[in-house]
Parts: sequence; C-alpha cells; structure tokens
Amino acid sequence: MKTLVVLFILGFNLTASADYSDSDPIGYYSEGILKNGVRLPDQGPGFMKLFLHRNRAWGTREMVDAITKTTLQMDRLFPRFDRLQVGDISQEGGGPVTDLHSSHQHGLDVDLTYYRINKIEQSPTEIKGFEELMVIRGKISKNFDSARNWKFLKELHKHGQVQRIFVDPVIKKEICRYARLLKESALFLEVLRSLRPYPNHQEHMHVRLKCPTEAKECRLQEDPPAGSGCNL
Ligand SMILES: [Zn+2]
Repeated sequence: MKTLVVLFILGFNLTASADYSDSDPIGYYSEGILKNGVRLPDQGPGFMKLFLHRNRAWGTREMVDAITKTTLQMDRLFPRFDRLQVGDISQEGGGPVTDLHSSHQHGLDVDLTYYRINKIEQSPTEIKGFEELMVIRGKISKNFDSARNWKFLKELHKHGQVQRIFVDPVIKKEICRYARLLKESALFLEVLRSLRPYPNHQEHMHVRLKCPTEAKECRLQEDPPAGSGCNL
C-alpha cells in the first residue's frame, strides 16, 4: 500500500514537471534571460532564418509558435512568394547581445524583414545585416508589398500575444493608408495600434510579444497608448 502511494505521488510529480518543462522568460526585454528556450529551425513552410552564424534563433515556445503558425498560414495563402526572413531572436539562454540590440534578451523580441513585391530573399549566410531598405529618402519603396505585409500583421495577432511592433514611421503611414483603403473593420484597430513608429526600422520590423501568463518572473511592459495612430 505504501509503495502504491509513493508511486502515485511520484507519478503525479512527473506529470506536473513535464507540463512545466516549457520555456521561461525571466526579467525584462532589455535585462533578461531565457530558460529552456526553443530554437527556431533554419527554415520551414513560409519562413527562413537569416544570420545563421549568429546563433540567435532562440525564443520562447510562444515566439516560435507565433512565427511558425503565422508563416504556415502565409505559405498557404501565398505559395511561391518570398518567405518571411527572420533575423535575431535571442541567443541560447538569453542575456545581453549588445553588439546590435539593447533588448532581445529573453526570447520575446524578433526582427523580421518586410515582404517584397519582387519576392527576392537574401542569403541566410549574409553576415552584414538586412540588405534592402523599404524606405528610401523618406518614401516607401515600390518593392514594399503592402497587401502581404498587412495580411501578415493581422495573422500574427491571431497566433501570438503581440505587445508592440516597431516599424519605420513611413511604413506605419503606408500600412494605415492600406488598411483605410480596404475599409478594414474596427477589429483590426488593435493591429494598427500595436505598430509603433520608430526610427531605424526601414529594413526590418521588430516584433515584441507579451510575457506569457505562466511566466511568473517575466516583467510586463505597459501597453501602447490607445488609438490606432492612423486617424481611424
Ligand atoms: Zn530588434
């Protein structure tokens, strides 16, 4: 009888710990670490990882799910187009990556390129950085695919708990223009609200996810100010 009780307790604990084996972001975006991070594969349906030599493909489970689920959907909708090109997430175990970022420390920040009309992807072994500017001399590039970038942003909000997304101010304006053109419903005002105009994001957007609810040591950031920022 005693053994049975012990086994029952042991079995129960094993199940409980299996449930808690998932990733755990600790601290803040600019001062954190990542326990049990999940590595985004080098490529998959609808996405490819850039800067492979940096080994910064480590995110929370929620981050990797948000990327892979969103791009799977994009791949279904737009097969044979350019894939989402994924820059840095975090290094293994998280912590400072101060050569390029102040954040990206606990698996909840990721840099992504914008989708392109010409569908050209850059090489995953390119080491210098993102190759193509989507804002040139203060104007949106003709190669910026507004339809697919807008679709991506909406899908991303379905598959991830988006905290905010930093984009160039000209890109925010272009997305606002496009959403207005489509007469998008109020449902998507939250998507527009999450887009925060920020300098130096002409060639990539920076997506930030919220702390997962079960990540007890993850410090929350305040929500962006109310309103779409698009005069909608
Ligand atoms: Zn970034």
